[in-house]
Formats: sequence, C-alpha cells, structure tokens
Amino acid sequence: MVKIPKVHPRRKSLISRKAIVDATKQGLLADSAMIAHGRGEAFDYLLGEKTSEIAKLSIKESAARLISAKHPVISVNGNTAVLAGKSLIRVAAVIQCPIEINIYYRTEKRMDLLHDYLESQKLEVSKEDNPINWHGDWESAVMAVKILGKEEDGKIEGLEGPRAICSAEGIERADVILVPLEDGDRCEVLVSLGKNVLVVDLNPLSRSAKMATVTIVDEVSRMAELLLQYVIENPSDNTEWNNDLALKESLEIISNYYVNQ
Ligand code: ATP
Repeated sequence: MVKIPKVHPRRKSLISRKAIVDATKQGLLADSAMIAHGRGEAFDYLLGEKTSEIAKLSIKESAARLISAKHPVISVNGNTAVLAGKSLIRVAAVIQCPIEINIYYRTEKRMDLLHDYLESQKLEVSKEDNPINWHGDWESAVMAVKILGKEEDGKIEGLEGPRAICSAEGIERADVILVPLEDGDRCEVLVSLGKNVLVVDLNPLSRSAKMATVTIVDEVSRMAELLLQYVIENPSDNTEWNNDLALKESLEIISNYYVNQ
C-alpha cells in the first residue's frame, strides 16, 4: 500500500481518490463514479478547497429545514456513501431520519453491497462517543437509523424506468430531502412534486444546483461534518432563502480565484 505523507499538500484529495478507486474495485460504484468525482475535484480546486461563507449559510439553512421537516430523508448515491457515509449516519442519528440508497445505475448487486457497507458503517458509528454537545443514548440513536432503498416499493411520479424507483417510507413520502450529487432530471422532478430538495454539488452551474430549493456548493465530506455540528446547534430556517443569489456568490468565488490566492 502506498503511504501518503501527512504533510503532502494534496493528501485529502489523494485519500478520497483512493477510496473511490478501491470502492469501484469492490463493485460498490459504477465506473463513471470516477468521472463524476474528477468533475467535482476540478470545481473544488477553483473554490480553494475550503467551505465558503455562503456554503456555510446554505448548510445551516439545510440543517434547519431538515430539523423542521415532517418526514426528512437523506438520499445517498455510491460516491456519497464512500466519501461521507459515516458523517451522514451521524446526522441521521441526530435528526432521527432514514437514509435511502439511490443510485443512477441501479443493479441488485450494487444495492446489496451499498446496503451492507452502510450497515457496517452504522455499527462502527454506534460505538463512537457522543458527538460534541449532543446528549442522549448514542448507540440507540444510531442503531435506530433505517437504511432504505432495497425494498423498491415507492415511485417518483414523473420519472420512468429505474430512475423512478424509490422507497415508499423514504423519498416517496419525504417533504425534505438532502440529496448530495443528484442528477438534474431527478432533482427537477422532486422539486416539481413540492418537496424541499437540498442538493450538495461543487458545480454551481449543474442542472441540479440550479433546480434545487437550497444548493450547498461544497465538497460532500466537508459539508457533512459541518452539517452535523449545525443540526446539533438547531438553527432556525430562513423562509426568504434566495438560492439564485447563493449560486451567484459561489460563482463569484470561482471567478475571483486568482484574486483570492
Ligand atoms: P446535472 O445533471 O445536475 O447537470 P451532471 O451530469 O453534471 O449533473 P453528474 O456527473 O451526474 O453531474 O454528477 C457529478 C456532480 O457531482 C458534478 O456536478 C460534480 O461537481 C459533483 N461532485 C462530484 N464529487 C463531488 C463531491 N465530492 N462533493 C460535492 N460535489 C461533487
């Protein structure tokens, strides 16, 4: 195994790449996962590889909407499970909402592998100490998080074929969905069904980023750690949230890349 020096300037990026490569070899991810990851890395480079102030605000807004939801759900695809699975399980434990596996290239084998992967991550998270400032029985809270997706008993009205399949207890009935790395079509349909769709995407120009109710332009693993902190802080939401303005601010950071160096 290649050891990455602790001081290597691209250490985090190299670790993430290795996680994606290994998970692809294990069959958890489709080959195109690496292309999606590379596109994300390019945008993250231009964002200075850090969470911007506007991203922090959108994470806080998403935390508030998840907390005040009647039926919140966190939808994860393969890349999200591999890069931010544990953090999102912690978030789900605090909010007490399910996690639903939802993948673009759906096969029974990959659904099974991702389900087992998240269940084993859940077990590891349940043995951790309580998150900072969270009080209660952590093990029970974590073990109560349902990993949905395999039951395929729900439908997203307005989509056809495998993309329409979902869980009745998860995405179908949800009023607020946190859905990192979603594709544009599904995002558009979920919004048209009247759901609050909270997207995480490093590309502020992607269709999902433009369609979402709240777009978090940040790297999924960085955002998930901050989201945990915010759901514990329990902020109030801003019904005046202007997503276009938030996207514009992220684009300005990218276009000022040289000025900010
Ligand atoms: P859309 O249909 O919304 O236009 P797309 O087809 O451009 O999306 P995909 O290839 O389906 O996008 O998904 C990759 C998206 O996820 C890209 O926009 C990319 O910037 C983003 N992305 C990839 N990795 C990460 C990550 N680790 N954190 C956040 N966003 C990421």
